[in-house]
Amino acid sequence: MGPLSLNTVSVRERWSLAQCIEGCARHGIPAISPWRDVLHAMGVAQAASAIRAAGLSVSGLCRGGMFTAADAAGRAASIEDNRRAIEEAHALGAACRVMVCGGLPPGSRDLEGARAMVQDGLAAIVDDARAAGVTLALEPLHPMTCADRSVLSTLGQALDLCDLLGNECEEGGVGVALDVYHVWWDPALAAQIARAGSRIAAFHVCDWLVPTTDLVFDRGMPGDGVIDIASIRAMVEATGYDGAVECEILSHKWWQQDPDDVLDLMVQRHATHC
Ligand code: ZN
Repeated sequence: MGPLSLNTVSVRERWSLAQCIEGCARHGIPAISPWRDVLHAMGVAQAASAIRAAGLSVSGLCRGGMFTAADAAGRAASIEDNRRAIEEAHALGAACRVMVCGGLPPGSRDLEGARAMVQDGLAAIVDDARAAGVTLALEPLHPMTCADRSVLSTLGQALDLCDLLGNECEEGGVGVALDVYHVWWDPALAAQIARAGSRIAAFHVCDWLVPTTDLVFDRGMPGDGVIDIASIRAMVEATGYDGAVECEILSHKWWQQDPDDVLDLMVQRHATHC
């Protein structure tokens, strides 16, 4: 099984990035995936050296994308911000930059237009990513977030975009981030994971709770819900993926807990349910 990675959003209301780095070292978690807000709060250079000093690898930088905007100025600003994030991922030595591509622009009903903006935005930055040796990991999000977060909803759609933009993932370029929370329901999942092959750049875990009380912020700890995480992980590993198993839990419930308890349980559940 791939090594556990702490996605910093899992403890975002309690710990800074410096505390996350120390926490990983304390709990024997060998990898980390910072979000850009905590990264900027610490400073990119300082974070990179602290992560190196702690001996952690960086399974991803969350997140970029958000290419959809109501006007050209908004789309250009997004592309500039994405270029900065590529530099940050390079500075951290991150395995990839996780891309959440954006929902419909405010007031729009033009879904196809929004999808075209995503493709155009990616096309504008993919050469920068290749030059920096950074992989853009397209993360399809559950279709319940299509309006406001991601018009990219399935692994099949993400791989179609990879095909359009060029396949090489090893030396930078485009690949996919597979988050079990977003794709577990997809009847085409097994076939699309096999199709993805070496393009899987990140593997995110948490669980789907029943009932789910919030569309975004009620994710479960692996083992507390209905996703057969171990089966999906086995499919991912069958493609040759040997990267991290990144635990990413956006949850009002878990944000209230002591982060040391959360990390303890993550280590346990990584062993038993991932
Ligand atoms: Zn994710």
